[in-house]
Amino acid sequence: MIFSDIYPRPVAEMILDKTKCQTRRLVKEGDYEVTNPITAKGITHVVNSKLRWQVGRDYAVQLGRGKHGLFYCKNCTKGDCEDAFSHVAAQTPLRIKITSIRKERLLDISEEDAKKEGFKDRQDFFLAFCKIAEKQIKENSDRKENPLYVSLCRWNPEVWVLDFEVLK
Ligand SMILES: [Zn+2]
Repeated sequence: MIFSDIYPRPVAEMILDKTKCQTRRLVKEGDYEVTNPITAKGITHVVNSKLRWQVGRDYAVQLGRGKHGLFYCKNCTKGDCEDAFSHVAAQTPLRIKITSIRKERLLDISEEDAKKEGFKDRQDFFLAFCKIAEKQIKENSDRKENPLYVSLCRWNPEVWVLDFEVLK
């Protein structure tokens, strides 16, 4: 799963110390959800032409498309190991396991969830999210259609809310 580098601290560090345990991703055209067949409640999968995310499944943490998954030191439990000689054998791939998925509107985020996203408050979260989305949208559509240029303050797309934990 790709994370950008606009968090207050290196994202691997924030994931490892649980400052970040939630992420929002734009709902793409063609996305649909699969719910639990027994309870008929709770999303278990998000599918487009192929599976996008699945609850219970784990994913590598990457800092960009095509970039390798991040590693961390199990002894230091942070992204950058300061003891490269004695801890080199403790290098572990950083993987996160999705614990729940839901869908909501971007602006419906609570203050509590803004903190789970790794930000101080909703305002900081929105600024960061729009910056990331702007990049993605610019790459995928022409400028005229970009909702961020039409009206940034009224832009309220549907997003998938993914809760996750570090895979032990
Ligand atoms: Zn270390």
